[in-house]
Amino acid sequence: MTHEGTNEGTNFDPWYDRYADRTAGLSASEVRALFAVASRPEVVSLAGGMPFVAALPPELIAGAFERVMATQGSLALQYSSGQGIPALREQILEVMALEGIRASVDDVVVTTGSQHALELVTKLFINPGDVVLAEGPSYVTAMVVFNSFQADITHVPMDEHGLIPEALRSTIARLKAVGKTIKFLYTIPSFSNPAGVTLTWQRRLEILEICRANDILVLEDNPYGLLYFDSPPPQAMRSVDEDGVVYLGTFSKTLAPGFRVGWALAPHAIREKMILANEAAVLSPSSFSQLMISEYLSTADWKGQINTFRDIYRERRDAMLAALAEYLPQLSWTVPNGGFYVWVTLPDHMDSKAMLPRAVKELVAFTPGTAFYADGSGRNNIRLSFCYPTPEFIREGIRRLSVAINGELDLLSTFSQTSPLAAIPLKQGIATPPSNIG
Ligand code: PMP
Repeated sequence: MTHEGTNEGTNFDPWYDRYADRTAGLSASEVRALFAVASRPEVVSLAGGMPFVAALPPELIAGAFERVMATQGSLALQYSSGQGIPALREQILEVMALEGIRASVDDVVVTTGSQHALELVTKLFINPGDVVLAEGPSYVTAMVVFNSFQADITHVPMDEHGLIPEALRSTIARLKAVGKTIKFLYTIPSFSNPAGVTLTWQRRLEILEICRANDILVLEDNPYGLLYFDSPPPQAMRSVDEDGVVYLGTFSKTLAPGFRVGWALAPHAIREKMILANEAAVLSPSSFSQLMISEYLSTADWKGQINTFRDIYRERRDAMLAALAEYLPQLSWTVPNGGFYVWVTLPDHMDSKAMLPRAVKELVAFTPGTAFYADGSGRNNIRLSFCYPTPEFIREGIRRLSVAINGELDLLSTFSQTSPLAAIPLKQGIATPPSNIG
């Protein structure tokens, strides 16, 4: 801060030296400015994770609005409980039952999106320096939360069947040997963001066993499980372990993110603390949104609507995989059976973040792989999302991406013929994602 007589702070931010240490991870990402350009209509954005809410008939929501306001208007406009409205919590049990979960309505805590549940759990468990284990790669904005509580994020490798149990075992042993405290494993077992990969049932059981044996809580984040394309994913990890798992769900992908309603299902003691933390943060989650969703669930064919979303996203996934095979056959990528994302691997020597300006110039945007690691890995990866653009735009987007990638490869091969490429230093830590990153 620039007080008279002191010279601290900067011209850009006079409060620079006054922020809490925990804000160190909240630096704006260098790709943020590019994403502003990428949101122009002529750019095909394969970067964000925005659900295709246009597939939701507006009259369903308008009808729910009219009925809520006519019959429960004063409740909808009032504060409610910090745990969430009981009728909605009952309905959330029905949603979770689709993934094999049996639970008590008392153990559900409604939150402001599952993002806020992530924040509450982290706030309850993490002291500076505590370890959070996370798949590598993992969801960028979860890592922003972990970082903001000064967690030490340690990645555990995954393959096409999800997180690798043997790698989890050895990572835990290594961390314990140097005296680290591991608080929880954060995992997105079904159609992960960003890898689009699903953890097998056998591995789910094995991972639960490893965590139980090591007193490590499992934070199971499952926004995409109901959005499968071919066959349903294995049942939720919470379906077989009610004491060691905090399960997170959301209406953002199966209905609409604008309501900002998600939930946590937690063992009793944790649930009590979550309610108190929720009240401290927001008093109560939005009564209006909760009653709207409750009305929608009791009057609309919500399972049919989820099937509609699944059909739309399946078609878009197919369009993306076909376009990748046609335009970029030299690359490799994951084949998601649900969710929003494909994870692409470029040749080893490529740097996807350095390539992003070239892609945006070609009018296509993606998210560089480094956003999804806390340790600078992912340099030759990109995350492509197929949830929002139409199949035609996806195809055109991949065509443009191939122009950018091939142009970059030409450039790299030209330079490598004259002199070796200088190593590009990796930036450590993760930056705040662009707002539409999803
Ligand atoms: N977890 C994951 C893995 C996600 O992809 C997202 C949204 N992109 C969220 C949590 C947060 O979703 P919301 O807060 O809208 O429920």
